[in-house]
Amino acid sequence: MSATTPQTDTGATPKQGSGITVEDLRVALPGRGGVDVVDDLDLVLHPGEVVGLVGESGSGKTTVGTALLGYTRAGAVIDHGKILYQDRDLLGLPWQEVRQLRGEEIAYVPQDPAAALNPAIRIGNQLVELLELRGIGTAESRLQGARDGLAEVGLPNNDEFLRRYAHQLSGGQVQRVALAMAFLPKPKALVLDEPTTGLDVTTQGMVLKTMGELCRSHGVAALYITHDLAVVANIADRVAVMYAGQVVELGEKETVFRHPSHPYTRALLDSIPHLSQARALSGIPGRTPAPGSRPGGCRFHDRCRHAVDRCAQTVPELVTVTPGHSARCLLVGEIGDWDISKGVVPDSDPKKARDPILAIEDLDVFYGRSKVVHGVTLDVAKAEVVALVGESGSGKTTISRCVGGLHKEWTGRIRFEGEDLPKGSRARTATDRKRIQYIFQNPYLSLNPRLTIEQIVKRPMELFGIASGKEATDRVVELLDQVALGPAVLGYQASRLSGGERQRVAIARALAAEPDLLVCDEITSALDVSVQGSIVSLLEDLRKSRGISMLFVTHNLALVRSIAARVQILNAGRVVEAGSVVEVMESPREDYTKRLLANSPRVD
Ligand code: SF4
Repeated sequence: MSATTPQTDTGATPKQGSGITVEDLRVALPGRGGVDVVDDLDLVLHPGEVVGLVGESGSGKTTVGTALLGYTRAGAVIDHGKILYQDRDLLGLPWQEVRQLRGEEIAYVPQDPAAALNPAIRIGNQLVELLELRGIGTAESRLQGARDGLAEVGLPNNDEFLRRYAHQLSGGQVQRVALAMAFLPKPKALVLDEPTTGLDVTTQGMVLKTMGELCRSHGVAALYITHDLAVVANIADRVAVMYAGQVVELGEKETVFRHPSHPYTRALLDSIPHLSQARALSGIPGRTPAPGSRPGGCRFHDRCRHAVDRCAQTVPELVTVTPGHSARCLLVGEIGDWDISKGVVPDSDPKKARDPILAIEDLDVFYGRSKVVHGVTLDVAKAEVVALVGESGSGKTTISRCVGGLHKEWTGRIRFEGEDLPKGSRARTATDRKRIQYIFQNPYLSLNPRLTIEQIVKRPMELFGIASGKEATDRVVELLDQVALGPAVLGYQASRLSGGERQRVAIARALAAEPDLLVCDEITSALDVSVQGSIVSLLEDLRKSRGISMLFVTHNLALVRSIAARVQILNAGRVVEAGSVVEVMESPREDYTKRLLANSPRVD
């Protein structure tokens, strides 16, 4: 592959009068000296085509998505460019016309679908009102229209369902109602902003399938915004990769996934786990620069492993790599081919001798009178990672909370190094509390906002009498180094850190107690794939170097393949299948496991 002369290639020939064409779009912050949030953006969305827009948090994806509706968040303005829809520039239309187009012809499905539904109005009435508002159908036909809309997204459309309120639906159902509402006015274009984040794999699989089919059968031009490359690999026809407010690579999905040309795309692909093979994941050092602090030259140069001197001085343009495939890099065609098998590592040996540290026997767990976990038996060996996998409500977090001493309503036995663990953490010895550390899913809620990072990480050392004073501070610095944060953050409060950085602090705090078992509760699910990659690599180092064992709760089977040796598949509070990761994932016996594997988005 070789680079050609700089030239903007939007990835396909624009078809005027259909879909959406974005030309040279710039969104800026006038209040901050006019710094760019997004700039130099050219993109074409064809009817019946899904374009995946990917990149880390802060890359400008949502800004692009809302700009397609002629909208920006408070404080930002679209100060340059065109958004052509049916030969009209949205940015030059009176606001009444733009308002009319929004929702009717260009629809938006938000990340939080519940925000799109009125909690006080029954689902059926909301759909009928929408049709009424848009002047679609007659008073008699609207109810049937609402039923058809629900059936189209795979939801029940009987009277009982129509009478429900939003709070009486599951997360997946709410998401599909939001989709039905977006499709009812038969829009020509659709912006989907991380619409499946937070859904379990089965629901996500169903929603993705429905979305793809609806877009293609209705000829809708769709932009699918996500940080999850595996989802894009499943739904998109073309992919645009964004970094620091610009598209850095654009092309057909197969081309971008098989022959990524931009070092950033390659680094993202190196960060993601595969279902079919264990991989040594790697993160991307540093973080996406915020508007106003983006470096000169190539915006990626301070994180790029291929950077050369001129990358810091010369601003790269989007150049054509092959027809329909372009990348914004000075060294396009000079950095060699990307090798998908580079990170592949052998699966954990299923026959390896095991020395259990944690043994759960016949565990029943209750919330009040209802039993939510039924007779679960499992163990975790020293220096081993055991994954607990299942959909929402399968009981995986409940089991891990019992192990962590955070839930007391259970019967059965939980033994740690042969000794029975009492139920609540208060009833446990300080040594047990020290040796079993829990890391929570949400790093935004698990760190005390009033304390500095130094105080947060020091706390377990003081609590368990491990170290104090200067010795403890030195140890904090050491731990922050281990989690790749460094001493610069010592005096910060958590609010100054990104989600990934906060989760590293939470890991450092857990390590400060010198634990033997980490209970990791969906600890990477809220993070970018690049941060997930670096955290998984950190945990793997800790397992090897310190012999730490881990109970790893997740719904991501691909991640299980890369991090765990054994897996327990849970459904409705029961273990339905268990064994070594390689056995369960290569030759699943149970239909439920097969379904989970089939619904997991895959890039391999
Ligand atoms: Fe890396 Fe240089 Fe290419 Fe930027 S221009 S992506 S720094 S090689």
